Amino acid sequence: MKVILRALGYFRPDHGKVGIIVCLLIGSVGLNLLKPWPMALIVDSILGQKPFPTWFPHAWSEWPKLQLLTALIVCFVSLHLIHAVMSALQNYLTIAVGLRGLQRVRDEVFGWLQRLSMRFHKGTDAGDLIFRAGNDACAFQSLLEQGVITTLSAVLNLVLMAGVMLTLNWQLSLFALAAVPVLMVTVRLFAKRMKTRGVIAQQAESKVYSLINQGIKALPLTQSYTREQETQRRFEDHTNRAQQRKMSQHGLEVFFWLAISVLLTSDTALLTWFGARQVLQNQLSLGELLVFLAYLGQMFDPLNQLSMVGATVSTASAGIKRVFEILDAPDEVKDAPNARPVQSAGKRRPRSSAARSAVAVEGNIGFDKVSFGYEPARNVLNNLTFQIRAGQSTAIIGPSGSGKSTLLNLLPRFIDPAQGSVLLEGVDLRQLRVRELRAQMALVLQEPIILPTTVAENISFGKANASLAEIEKAARSANAHEFISELRQQYRTPIGEGGASLSVGERQRINLARAFLKNAPILLMDEPTSALDVESESQVVQSLQALMRGRTTLMVAHRLSTIQCVDTILVLEDGAVSEFGSPEELLGRDSYYSRVAKGHVELNGALR
Ligand code: ADP
Ligand code: MG
Repeated sequence: MKVILRALGYFRPDHGKVGIIVCLLIGSVGLNLLKPWPMALIVDSILGQKPFPTWFPHAWSEWPKLQLLTALIVCFVSLHLIHAVMSALQNYLTIAVGLRGLQRVRDEVFGWLQRLSMRFHKGTDAGDLIFRAGNDACAFQSLLEQGVITTLSAVLNLVLMAGVMLTLNWQLSLFALAAVPVLMVTVRLFAKRMKTRGVIAQQAESKVYSLINQGIKALPLTQSYTREQETQRRFEDHTNRAQQRKMSQHGLEVFFWLAISVLLTSDTALLTWFGARQVLQNQLSLGELLVFLAYLGQMFDPLNQLSMVGATVSTASAGIKRVFEILDAPDEVKDAPNARPVQSAGKRRPRSSAARSAVAVEGNIGFDKVSFGYEPARNVLNNLTFQIRAGQSTAIIGPSGSGKSTLLNLLPRFIDPAQGSVLLEGVDLRQLRVRELRAQMALVLQEPIILPTTVAENISFGKANASLAEIEKAARSANAHEFISELRQQYRTPIGEGGASLSVGERQRINLARAFLKNAPILLMDEPTSALDVESESQVVQSLQALMRGRTTLMVAHRLSTIQCVDTILVLEDGAVSEFGSPEELLGRDSYYSRVAKGHVELNGALR
């Protein structure tokens, strides 16, 4: 129930439209009740001999019969037409409100996914998230449309019809309404099972999305190892399972509807039998029996809708819950209540009190007894303590899995330490405003990330208002201008998905150009050249060295060629600092670095 109320909150901004929908709904229910009456009057008082009922306007009943007939037929047609128009309008508005709510949910989920930490995203399957944001979010729309509005209209229709029927003839009404309690019991019997099956089917369906996602990602691997058939078979196992589970869900629903329609048909038969006997005994007019039968026919729809409401709402709330699970995932990394502003040391500071508490970043970094583990039981980083002075470049080397990438991820606060603190200008990162902290850092990863847009927009991603001249300057510094000039539309060439294809080296140089343009005082690089061949590496290394100039740099290094120019080398083994010093210093003694430099050890690999 809480879930449903919370879900309905997404439609609150449209409460005005919802009000109009409710008015239209009440109007169309009223018209619906009036619809069979012109016919009943024609049958009873124009064709038959019965006097007009007391509520019928007295002046009209004086009219000649033929004229009255025409008037009643006009009434009949108008009632039907106005009812149809009102229902159409109400449906249109309901769909509009439903779609706006869906849009709000999706926007919020996307926004939240952008805020959640790397730890969340690494531990969560992307296909499942896509399914939740794409498919499960539609449950909000069906909750409003089928769950709320349809139910409201069904309940109104039923209650008012029951009222009119009871005033006309209570005995006959009992026959007509006898179906309702039986229906309630049937719904209760089915609802829970339908819900469970709905949830299970949804899970199987989401798994299919995950597998498609994984399948696309692993395609080079699958094709090169010629494992297509096995992958296909594994996929088919899952689609088969998903199909069976959906079938078991729908099978139960079909069976349920069957039971309902048997129930309603029996009730119609019963009503006709009893009503016709009352007409024969003159206890009921033919016109009134027609109204009863018309109502009973119209009861089928709302009853059917009500009987399905349980299933609809439970399927919808399963989807809604899965969306809320994303929205309720805690954002581990967020601003402390009194987080301090951060700015580059060069910028002139205004004199407001907020600005006075600002931390001016030169680039002095400190690790103070930092420990971190992805799982509580196993530390990946153990009690790290070291200092890096502003403007210095540091290469982080060490065997694979020793925690180098993890160490780097602490600086932009993709993760936070479990113990100890990471410091910038002596201030714990957790006391700084996250967005402003991240603005001080440029990040270059092993796999260059290219967005599906133009070259220029890719480069200016971190500085949206950059001029073309600035973009070009950054590209020149990154050794990228030359190949960009040879593209068909130069800087306006679309790249990334569906765009021009670039080599990994070219992509990486675009990433470096992006970092140049951001011009942040701190530079973080994680094996920036490891995806490159030797030839494109040399070009990238040149740009790297240009980029490092004047910035505090932490670079996880993969090749000897990229670390020879750094000020300091930090060797990480088993999550602890085993060596820390200048290359000359480390070369002079028996160290991991000297073994690497002499070629006894493969860099970042195991001992030879
Ligand atoms: P390196 O970059 O030095 O190769 P990492 O920092 O990537 O090492 O990983 C250090 C250790 O942490 C490894 O044992 C790895 O399995 C583990 N690890 C890395 N990322 C995660 C994660 N998202 N969840 C759980 N364990 C992880
Ligand atoms: Mg790594």
